[in-house]
Amino acid sequence: MNAEADDDFGVRRDRMVAEIEQMVRETQRETGRAALDNRVVAAMRKVERHRFVPPSYAARAYDNRPLAIGAGQTISQPFIVALMTDLLNVGPGNKVLEVGTGSGYQAAVLAEIAGAVYSIEIIESLGREAARALSAAGYRNVHTRIGDGYAGWPEQAPFDAIMVTAAAPEVPQPLIDQLKPGGRLVIPVGAQGGAQELYVIEKDARGTVTRRKALDVRFVPLTRKP
Ligand code: SAH
Repeated sequence: MNAEADDDFGVRRDRMVAEIEQMVRETQRETGRAALDNRVVAAMRKVERHRFVPPSYAARAYDNRPLAIGAGQTISQPFIVALMTDLLNVGPGNKVLEVGTGSGYQAAVLAEIAGAVYSIEIIESLGREAARALSAAGYRNVHTRIGDGYAGWPEQAPFDAIMVTAAAPEVPQPLIDQLKPGGRLVIPVGAQGGAQELYVIEKDARGTVTRRKALDVRFVPLTRKP
């Protein structure tokens, strides 16, 4: 990639972030967020989304849209990535679990803000490609694995925060169990192809779990190992 093209991508990224900030304002009544946290804005400005999409889509990498990444899966819309990251409310030193590595882009955004990211992908080809892209982009604090994320990552639990990027019919209990007291889980819940809602689930210091709806969304389904 030559310097001129890098600059061009940087300009497109800034434009993408401006569009995301506009959408955040427009959805404030539903999400309760008037603006993104500064750390989320900085991460969205920095992470090179073009590294995480198929090469033929590089020119569209900074459109505020989901894109196909193969195996019938998609890299989420940048607005959704930013909003979910914001709702997760992570900070330096936090240990975060992501279910649904997909392209690896969301993991990279989380890795800019959190201390360590553990990400699970059920489709082997995607998981391998994401691991390669994350390593090529220099992320040393992202750990990936192939498997069914419904069960979480027990060996690394508990987590300060957990993000699920595929829609489940109900919230997987193992994920709630693997959340630290004071931790947060952001997950789309609903039937495949039907109405889905993004939930923010909190486990307080005493272990009491509460949930609130943040937005109507549309995600690929959380699948299970046969
Ligand atoms: N976070 C991704 C979004 C990918 S779409 C990104 O930034 O690109 C959701 C991903 O979840 C898909 O790749 C899909 O294969 C994966 N997935 C679905 N069910 C899963 C499961 N049970 N465990 C782990 N990954 C799963």
